[in-house]
Amino acid sequence: MEDTKKPQGIQSGSATTLPLYFSVFFFLLAALALMVFTVRYLVTSESDAPDITTTASVALPQPATTSTTNLEQTIEVTEGDTLADIFDRYNLDQRDLSAVLSMPNVKTALRHIKPGNQMQLMMAPNGALEKLSYQIGSNQFIKVARTQHGFISKTVTEALETRKAVAQGVVRSSFYSAAQNAGLPTSLILDLGKIFAWQVNFKQGLHPGDTFEVLYEERYLGDKFVEYGDILAAKFYVNGELFEAIRFKPAKGIARYYTPMGNSLDRAFMRAPLKYTRISSSFNLNRKHPILGITRPHEGVDLAANWGTPVTAAGNGVISFEGKEGGYGNLVIVSHGQGITTRYGHLSRFVKGLRPGDHVSMGQVIAYVGSTGLATGPHLHYEYRINDAPQNPLTVKLPGTAPLPAKYRKSFLAQTRVYLAQMDKAISMPYQLTELG
Ligand SMILES: [Zn+2]
Repeated sequence: MEDTKKPQGIQSGSATTLPLYFSVFFFLLAALALMVFTVRYLVTSESDAPDITTTASVALPQPATTSTTNLEQTIEVTEGDTLADIFDRYNLDQRDLSAVLSMPNVKTALRHIKPGNQMQLMMAPNGALEKLSYQIGSNQFIKVARTQHGFISKTVTEALETRKAVAQGVVRSSFYSAAQNAGLPTSLILDLGKIFAWQVNFKQGLHPGDTFEVLYEERYLGDKFVEYGDILAAKFYVNGELFEAIRFKPAKGIARYYTPMGNSLDRAFMRAPLKYTRISSSFNLNRKHPILGITRPHEGVDLAANWGTPVTAAGNGVISFEGKEGGYGNLVIVSHGQGITTRYGHLSRFVKGLRPGDHVSMGQVIAYVGSTGLATGPHLHYEYRINDAPQNPLTVKLPGTAPLPAKYRKSFLAQTRVYLAQMDKAISMPYQLTELG
């Protein structure tokens, strides 16, 4: 019984071991296959042997060879072009056109495509639209791309590169034409006028031979000029006198222009507190009064303006008087501190709600032109007093705004050195010298 049992046992044993041999065999086979696979894959990825890709394509990630066969086109929009015209021209699917235009931002951006603007198209090897890019601003693009789930779009803002440029010129007839000849655009010419508004009289004060130099920014997208930036520094030689301006912007704060020593170029006062048509009577402490006929000092300046023209506070301050006062008629007095007061006479009316004690800021409307009191016609009688002594408002040296705060001084001076050196370097170039004549 034991003998028969043994072979039975053996038999039964061999019956169970046979599948085991098979599974080991198949396992080894599979492992071998995997080894071959791995080796070949490594070879493939190293040598890019094209015959391997068919083998590998079953299980391994395919090298990105499709992109090289995509067709990329940069086209220029021509007069009257619509996106549909462009789709027609490149045999693009009308259903894709509908899908692209179904995105609201794309529809808005591509409703009126401008002649001369560029559009980038990328087509798959089968000719279907893959990507579209269109410039919608100086450095803004709308980008459309096909995904598995349809088209997606986004607006992309590309960073502009800022470059510095120097322009310089000589005044021959007018400052404006000189600045234009120097290559400055109108926007920067106006900026320059504002920067030196208190130092240089652009209407009457310039002489032939006066020169200027400007360091300014130009912004580029790649190699393409996009826009002008800010004036960083400027010099003006007026009748041999040098005026300089350096732009400085604190990390948190607004940009202002200072002298290279850090004094503000802005004034804390307006020269005239309204838009006037002419000076009808000037400051004269020995004047004969036109109505009274007696010598009576004219302690301010008369600025003729239409009845009702707004009158503004000439500087920051506090209203110290508002009401009728003899020959002044309706009068406002503003106290500005440091002994400075300004007076506004012959007003037709005051601004409602403004009362003595109220703070007003430079340029804030306080009243309106009239002819109350001793006045022959509508005008503003404007006075500027220091410790109650009348000054000529049109020539008095106006106080500047606050100088650069001390904590910025070091970085301001370092920046100033760089700017002035860059200007000197540009001006010393031969071309600039011949321009200087
Ligand atoms: Zn007057």
